[in-house]
Amino acid sequence: MTILDGKRVAAAIRTELKQQVAELQSQGLRQPCLAVVIVGHNTASETYVNNKMKACEEVGFRAIKIAFENSITEQQLLTQIALLNQDKDIDGFIVQLPLPEHINESKVIQAIDYHKDVDGLHPYNVGLTALGLPSIVSATPRGIRELLARYQIPTEGKRVVVIGRSNIVGKPMAMLLMQKPYLSLSQTASTQLGDATVTLCHSKTQNLRDICREADIIIVAVGQPCLLTADMVKPDATIIDVGINRIEDPHAPKGYRLVGDVDFQNVSQIVKYITPVPGGVGPMTIASLLQNTMQVYKSNL
Ligand code: NAD
Repeated sequence: MTILDGKRVAAAIRTELKQQVAELQSQGLRQPCLAVVIVGHNTASETYVNNKMKACEEVGFRAIKIAFENSITEQQLLTQIALLNQDKDIDGFIVQLPLPEHINESKVIQAIDYHKDVDGLHPYNVGLTALGLPSIVSATPRGIRELLARYQIPTEGKRVVVIGRSNIVGKPMAMLLMQKPYLSLSQTASTQLGDATVTLCHSKTQNLRDICREADIIIVAVGQPCLLTADMVKPDATIIDVGINRIEDPHAPKGYRLVGDVDFQNVSQIVKYITPVPGGVGPMTIASLLQNTMQVYKSNL
């Protein structure tokens, strides 16, 4: 069994980006700039945003955090987005999800200029991705694609099961893998991805176990610890665990620890490749956000 070490691959991507920023600056060009909007004090969101800020600083991007209290109105947030859309010094920005209930997430996403939509969530980018055209790809699926490419795990003709149909992970992931082949966007990976036979499963899927047992690659994005168990995988499968769940652990310094959606201890005994949680998909998502920002920056040169 090989661990797909997202932490290591993400660090390599950050090194590549850092070199690119140094080259840009040596040509007298400005740094790429990412802005992150956060509303309220969701602890997990605050951690993700801080990690994104830190990653930007590490590679030499300018990072701007714009924080609002929960009391901000939808209109005030839309006004802020309009300002970011117009700001020529900002290449891309994201609005950290989830938003408070009184704000319509879909309206907010649609208000973002799709050229600056480095989370790849705007319907225009999603549409381009669906059509297999150049687009800003949602960060988590992009990160998973990169991880598969760098470990040279081909998807051509493979049976892939994606569990979870969210707009940010499940749906775009399925779309990317079912497309005709395309070369990975990464500088180093040359594995062609796409051409997979994809099954998208969700909460109403019946016989999930039987469907998974036929899969060469399983991508789980549900948010339920131990959803994927050892009896659901075949030997030699590749398992990508997107889930992030906090479970109580009195022995852990914070009183909890993070686990994914996969029964890692038992599944890892059987399969060929598996991502850990933490240290798998999470760091790749942040690295992809940086890559998306660099992509937008370069398209504006
Ligand atoms: P979500 O929370 O919006 O939806 C969950 C999905 O799981 C739904 O599509 C639902 O149909 C499906 N589902 C629920 N119960 C199921 C069951 N028993 N069997 C099959 N499918 C079932 O999805 P999301 O936003 O993609 O988040 C999923 C998980 O991934 C969460 O734990 C989230 O924190 C994590 N996540 C991690 C990253 C990362 O970078 N590592 C990024 C995004 C999301």
